[in-house]
Amino acid sequence: MNAIHVSLEQLGWTDARVREFEPHAAEGVVPGRVSLEHNHVFRVLTESGEQLAEVAGRLKHLAETRRGLPVVGDWVALRLDPLGARSQIVHVLTRSTVFSRKAAGRETEEQLIAANLDTVFVVFGLDKPVNREAIERYLVVARASGAAPVVVLNKRDLGVDFDAARVEAEEVTGGSPVVAVSAKSGEGMPALAAWLAPGRTLTVIGPSGVGKSSLVNALVGNEVLPTGEVRAWDARGRHTSVHRQLVVRAAGGLLIDTPGMRELQLWDTNAVADAFLDVAELAAACRFRDCSHDREPGCAVKAAVDAGAIEPRRYASFIKLQAEQAETERKQMGRADLLSKRESRVRTRALRAHQKAHGKKGTR
Ligand code: GDP
Ligand code: ZN
Repeated sequence: MNAIHVSLEQLGWTDARVREFEPHAAEGVVPGRVSLEHNHVFRVLTESGEQLAEVAGRLKHLAETRRGLPVVGDWVALRLDPLGARSQIVHVLTRSTVFSRKAAGRETEEQLIAANLDTVFVVFGLDKPVNREAIERYLVVARASGAAPVVVLNKRDLGVDFDAARVEAEEVTGGSPVVAVSAKSGEGMPALAAWLAPGRTLTVIGPSGVGKSSLVNALVGNEVLPTGEVRAWDARGRHTSVHRQLVVRAAGGLLIDTPGMRELQLWDTNAVADAFLDVAELAAACRFRDCSHDREPGCAVKAAVDAGAIEPRRYASFIKLQAEQAETERKQMGRADLLSKRESRVRTRALRAHQKAHGKKGTR
């Protein structure tokens, strides 16, 4: 393995993690941070270099869901192989934050994308007018991960009034910072330094074409610590070169850039809805199945807001999102579908009336 000179602190090791790791240290394992996953083989950065590792059988067995298995950005306890073969990941440390989404087409299976992110750069391009709706949505998703969002308005070299755009964006960010930069010319980039301190981990999300790749290149460039080329294995066992999904900047900070993160396009995933899974769960307890969570009696969502369990801001976003989804549905549905839907609604009502008369609770 390559010898790399990275301290655990540079990798994001904290006092809380030191304490959590103590009992494991006694078992003769070392801490490490997952930098890449490829076909169930992991690259793990440790104080003594990058290790090739796999999940120990016992951990695989104990992990009830995907949540129990390592993902890029995770801190793990590693049992090094004395003969230099694959190390074993025996434990995954508590995650401070986690980016996840619902696996496509599944109701409940959660797909983890990355863990232990401190900051999410939500990128937009100044070549287009400020889209507050889009900013709000991305912020919801970023915050759902637990990480702190920073809105980055890129392409300020194009000559637009970026200060005005910044002020406009700030109106919807609820206190999250907005920074105007140019990945191309480097203007404004020093303002991002605050989130690139040693041991701090960030990722970059946003619509395509806004300059995420350019920004990543500008931030990481050739500055990546010399950890050597990563070799991975494709399904046929051939060697292929792959990019690390977690990179350590020589100048400080870590950047997570996984395909899952890149593909996080809010418009074709349920990422926004996923960010409200807890609210949706509550909604199931509302007295009325078709509760709009507005003024209906027996609304579990409203009750949670009143009790302070849901932030008023989040509640407002949820209501807005619901209205938008209904609107999208209406638009997508052809006229024929609309008609048949109306028909089926009439039928459902009749069924409900019938069930009510017979003392049963109606279904949606
Ligand atoms: P991504 O899809 O978000 O990863 O965006 P890219 O990094 O691929 O950039 C999309 C396009 O925007 C490319 O043509 C880039 O050259 C251009 N671009 C990226 N950053 C800047 C910038 O700061 N200024 C200008 N003028 N163009 C940029
Ligand atoms: Zn309700």
